[in-house]
Amino acid sequence: MQILDGKVMSAQVEAELKERVDAMLKKGQTPGLEVILVGDDPASHLYVGNKEKACARLGLYSKTVRLPEDTTQEALEQAIREANEDPKIHGLLVQMPLPKHLDSDRALALIAPDKDADGFQNASMGKLLRGEKGPVACTPKGVMYMLRAAGIDLTGKDAVVVGRSNIVGKPMAVLLMHANATVTICHSRTKDLAAHTRRADVLVAAIGQPKFITADMVKDGAVVVDVGMNRVDGKFVGDVDFEAVKDKCSWISPVPGGVGRMTIAMLMTNTLDAAEKAFS
Ligand code: NAP
Repeated sequence: MQILDGKVMSAQVEAELKERVDAMLKKGQTPGLEVILVGDDPASHLYVGNKEKACARLGLYSKTVRLPEDTTQEALEQAIREANEDPKIHGLLVQMPLPKHLDSDRALALIAPDKDADGFQNASMGKLLRGEKGPVACTPKGVMYMLRAAGIDLTGKDAVVVGRSNIVGKPMAVLLMHANATVTICHSRTKDLAAHTRRADVLVAAIGQPKFITADMVKDGAVVVDVGMNRVDGKFVGDVDFEAVKDKCSWISPVPGGVGRMTIAMLMTNTLDAAEKAFS
């Protein structure tokens, strides 16, 4: 069994990005990322803090607009409009989830398409589906980087994605399809989930349930990618029962130290791509 090591791989990505950032800074061009954070969700604050730290490591300009929990839709949309107009900002994201009284689809739709750092907008998703160039959702993009970096050839492989969210499951399935895998998408209404997962050469778990994927659900020699980030007793636990599953796999990503690291690295990549395009 080999580890899909997000710490090592994200450090490789950052090293490549640092060279690109330095080249831009030499030309007097500073790439910038803005995050709009609404409310007090501790996990969101942690994620935004990690994004700010990554910007600092790479030399990107970073701005976080913090809005109170009871922010109105109008105030949120005004903040997005201001970021759209700000020439210092090349990547913009609204940290999800938003408080329930806010309309996240309306907010997302307002982000200037060229600044859609998360790749969650309809236009970005449409381009992804069509196989056109554009921002790709950071977590599935990070998973693809990991598979490529490990030298795993996906052509003709049976890939099973458990989860069909707009931010992970759906874009993940599309990317695997573009890489010539034969893709099955499973979800909470799937009949006999284990029958599907046991066929998977490549299994991606994006469910949001701690240790949901057990050893009997995994084929011998499978590649298992664990996207899950579940907080259990103050610690992050994946969707895969790592200890039970690891000896059956050819490759497996741990939690923490797996996909989460890649997500931030891909956010930096999307921001830099947008900045290079804006300055060209
Ligand atoms: P989500 O929107 O809640 O979607 C979960 C998906 O799992 C849904 O499609 C759901 O099916 C499916 N599901 C739930 N219970 C199931 C079951 N018993 N059997 C089969 N399918 C089931 O979650 P998400 O945003 O995609 O995130 C998934 C996980 O990844 C979470 O743990 C999240 O914290 C983590 N995550 C990690 C990163 C990272 O950077 N590592 C980034 C994003 C998310 P239905 O559609 O039928 O409800």
